[in-house]
Amino acid sequence: MDRRTFMKSAALTGAAAIAQSPAPALAQAQGSQKTTVGIQLDVGSLVEQGVDRVLDDLQRLAHVNALFLYTINFMQERVHYKGTGTFRGGNYATVHPQYYKDTVLRAEDTRAPEFPGFDVLAEVVPAARKRGIKTFCWIIEDNSLPKVPNMEKLWEVDVYGRPTTRHPGGPCFNNPNYTNFLLGLVEDYCRSYQVDGIMFGSERQGPMGYSLGAYHNGAHADPGTVCCFCSFCEAKARRMGIDFGRVREGYLALEKYVRSGRAKRRPTDGYYVAFWRVLLDYPEILTWERFWTTGQQETYAALHGKVKAVNPDLKAGWHIWQNASWNPIYRAEQDFAGMAPFSDFFKPVVYNNCAGERMISYMESVGQNMHGDVSKAELLEFEYKVLNYNEAPLDKLAAAGFSADYVYRETKRTMDDLEGTSAQVWPGIDIDVPTANGSSKCTPEGVRDAVLAAYKGGAQGVVLSRSYSEMKHENLRGAGVALEQLNLV
Ligand SMILES: [Zn+2]
Repeated sequence: MDRRTFMKSAALTGAAAIAQSPAPALAQAQGSQKTTVGIQLDVGSLVEQGVDRVLDDLQRLAHVNALFLYTINFMQERVHYKGTGTFRGGNYATVHPQYYKDTVLRAEDTRAPEFPGFDVLAEVVPAARKRGIKTFCWIIEDNSLPKVPNMEKLWEVDVYGRPTTRHPGGPCFNNPNYTNFLLGLVEDYCRSYQVDGIMFGSERQGPMGYSLGAYHNGAHADPGTVCCFCSFCEAKARRMGIDFGRVREGYLALEKYVRSGRAKRRPTDGYYVAFWRVLLDYPEILTWERFWTTGQQETYAALHGKVKAVNPDLKAGWHIWQNASWNPIYRAEQDFAGMAPFSDFFKPVVYNNCAGERMISYMESVGQNMHGDVSKAELLEFEYKVLNYNEAPLDKLAAAGFSADYVYRETKRTMDDLEGTSAQVWPGIDIDVPTANGSSKCTPEGVRDAVLAAYKGGAQGVVLSRSYSEMKHENLRGAGVALEQLNLV
């Protein structure tokens, strides 16, 4: 059966068939290396259910052959910690202090207090290897300041010189206390355990995107808290010949523009023209936006270099924030071809169910400034055209979510951008990422179709997301059915 016939017959199979389809015998699912079937896995599920039971279920239901373990995390829901008392989070592996140099963080302080005596890598890696399953350390940045001594010295400073403790602030990529900590962390993981690599995720953008609130949930962002204006950034700017004072003035002018829009005071010449006037008056706004992104990508390159220095066979890749699915400026910044030289793989986030409500949220925010003169329905059409989507109209969008066609188009775009490079593409598939009441929810056939669409787009693997603890088994099974239909396992 060729791929086209196969996709058609796959499309005819209903949800009921998936729910009833028996999972194949475990032996059949073992050891396949044809494609990467990854899953993001939390420590809490492993402790609660036991390592072997979780691995049995992952292989039986979805042919998983790569774990993306949340090895360090400060978010209770991602850790899936249900214990009583205050949650703090941290590193769930043993910390080996000799790898951490030139940082004010004391490595031992980053060990999580939860699950004492449980070293997630020591417990999981040998069990996974026995089954032919790879293990990647999955490191994602936090949205609020972790309660670790000295952590505040790593965090960004806003345009008014105030230290930040939460989004849109975060640890500064130009602060060596942060980058040296990250380098120590990945060296520790890669030297102390037989892992297969790392995935790093930074769900942040530069100060222009933040000032405009150009992301989902950005409508209430404070344009006076944009980052980073710390002494490390100032010194780097000086070395690069950037006028730091003009950058600050520019962001204060942009703050004024955004605040007027939020107060519904339409600029005399309209929202779009006024936005461009601020940019033309202060081209330093764009310089600093680029400066931030460069710092982020220099960190990716350094982490990749560190992993390869430990062992060239290990892999380093990046989780790409879903903001690239609605903010065209952020999409331009996440230049896959430009990042390819320091990337073994990319996980573009293509969570299709939550994409509908997230697109609406993004439009609510930029509809108060640069796109303030067009209706939401017109803006949605514009978004669909410039981003190359064919999705539901505004009144049906939240309930419909995005379709599998979005997963296909985003995967294909990423593949096309990376043509001629060795970087692989493993899209992040939505399995029960929470959505509001009335918004699109995952189904077994929806997950199946998203996985089929990723492979139709040329993907060399998938990362089932966001966290195993959120996933219903019947929906996870949808991924397994797709892989079987594609004869990939
Ligand atoms: Zn900084």
